[in-house]
Amino acid sequence: MTHTSDNNSLVYLIGAGPGDPGLITVRGKECMGLADVVVYDYLANDDLLQYARPGAELIYAGKVGGHHNREQWQINELLVEKAREGRVVARLKGGDPFVFGRGGEECEALVAAGIPFEIVPGVTAAIGAAAYAGIPLTHRDFTTSVAFVTGHESPGKEASEIDWEGLSLGSGTVVFYMGMKNLPQITANLMAHGRPPETPVALVRWGTRPEQEVLAGTLSDIADKARRTGFKAPAVTVVGEVVTLREKLRWFDSRPLFGRGILVTRAADQAGEFSAILRRKGARVVECPTIAIAPPESWDELDAAVARLATFDWVVFTSYNAVRFFFARLAAQGKDSRALGPCRICVVGPKTAEALALHGLRPDLIPGDYKGEGVVEALRSVVSGARVLFPKGDRARDVIPAGLAALGAEVTAPVAYRNVTPEVIPAGVIADLEAKRIHCVTFTSSSTVENLAAILGENRLLRLLDGVAIASIGPITSRSCQELGLKVDVEPPAYTLEALTAELVRFFSP
Ligand code: SAH
Repeated sequence: MTHTSDNNSLVYLIGAGPGDPGLITVRGKECMGLADVVVYDYLANDDLLQYARPGAELIYAGKVGGHHNREQWQINELLVEKAREGRVVARLKGGDPFVFGRGGEECEALVAAGIPFEIVPGVTAAIGAAAYAGIPLTHRDFTTSVAFVTGHESPGKEASEIDWEGLSLGSGTVVFYMGMKNLPQITANLMAHGRPPETPVALVRWGTRPEQEVLAGTLSDIADKARRTGFKAPAVTVVGEVVTLREKLRWFDSRPLFGRGILVTRAADQAGEFSAILRRKGARVVECPTIAIAPPESWDELDAAVARLATFDWVVFTSYNAVRFFFARLAAQGKDSRALGPCRICVVGPKTAEALALHGLRPDLIPGDYKGEGVVEALRSVVSGARVLFPKGDRARDVIPAGLAALGAEVTAPVAYRNVTPEVIPAGVIADLEAKRIHCVTFTSSSTVENLAAILGENRLLRLLDGVAIASIGPITSRSCQELGLKVDVEPPAYTLEALTAELVRFFSP
């Protein structure tokens, strides 16, 4: 009996791509956000789960090597069962769902159950791994065809279903999936059927990920090399003359920080910029916020100022968070931007101006120098006798209130938010440190070091960072490191993220 669903049942079979989380399709990402349930695989990058709705049910259906957590029929049933509950299901599969992914079987089960579905293709491992290894799968000078072949066929199979002759004669590129265990048989078969032993071969493991490893050789020696180096799945085996192009076209695993695990310890909302710079150099960046933003102990001061907003001549914002909390309190009093009336607004720089723009407002003044001193300078000629509201962070320096008061302004400076030390750091970060997957920890202010020590405890900090390079942005931060017993290995001559990155590149160059 087929059961026709009359509710919202729908299953998206989504290709997650080969590993780099940027390689999911736009549609795939969209469908992730529509799902009530996400069923995901071992080979689908966990980072993609962030696209699921908060509260969506996440189910790991992974298969690791031969240890199947669930049999395929159980996965099929799970999809049918969740969909029959009237839920939208995202089935996230590594690479492309229809390339050696048993997506066909999952679809058949859905058809049999009368459940509607959509297939979202993905970048399959062969395509992704070859691209990130710098191997064009076809090239006019070398080959006119490419074949994707399973390497999983049991070696003892008497009548192989693989057309070894077809793959061996001619010059086509051949990519084997799931072929690590059978590599000796695969290469022997190709040579026995006429492929020259000197044909170039590359094994690409964890292609497109920061862990990518490539082993190059020939049909005659690659199996032996793989055995000697302990090269393991998941990997694709690329066979053909195109493999030689890697020497010229290699781009991903030759970046200066490639393969380096680097911990970024900034505040969550400030980490992005530094992480992006490091990633462009090929680093595997792990973010570990050591500063969190929290509301003030009491809203009284800020609320009182907001209640008499129209009595101020100027409002000064020096951070995204100040803007965010100010407008939250305005909303809490049932008001909106109009309550600012004729108040003029000064922001410290373009980032804060962007935060303001979210509320439909443009600043009247942005100083040339994006610092507290710049704000004081910019307001110098207009602020005498003016009433100024400055909603600030609890650790804000006194430069603005003191500077403006000295110019004759009457300054009200309520705390709008606090910088606090988070109680824990993400579990994944500890695991990475324990496993020595982090090669360098970066500190970009004294509070990042001090807070990390406070969260972990000093002994644990020293133990976890043993053998890990320490990079500090400048002498004050370095002193804080030394006070905690950490030896600083990298410190740039200039106090910027770019200079710190350049110094890291130098430190890690062979
Ligand atoms: N549907 C997937 C393939 C699943 S079969 C796709 O389209 O890519 C699993 C095999 O895919 C692995 O044994 C390995 O050969 C290959 N594979 C998956 N991800 C890979 C990666 N990041 N790098 C190299 N090979 C990968």
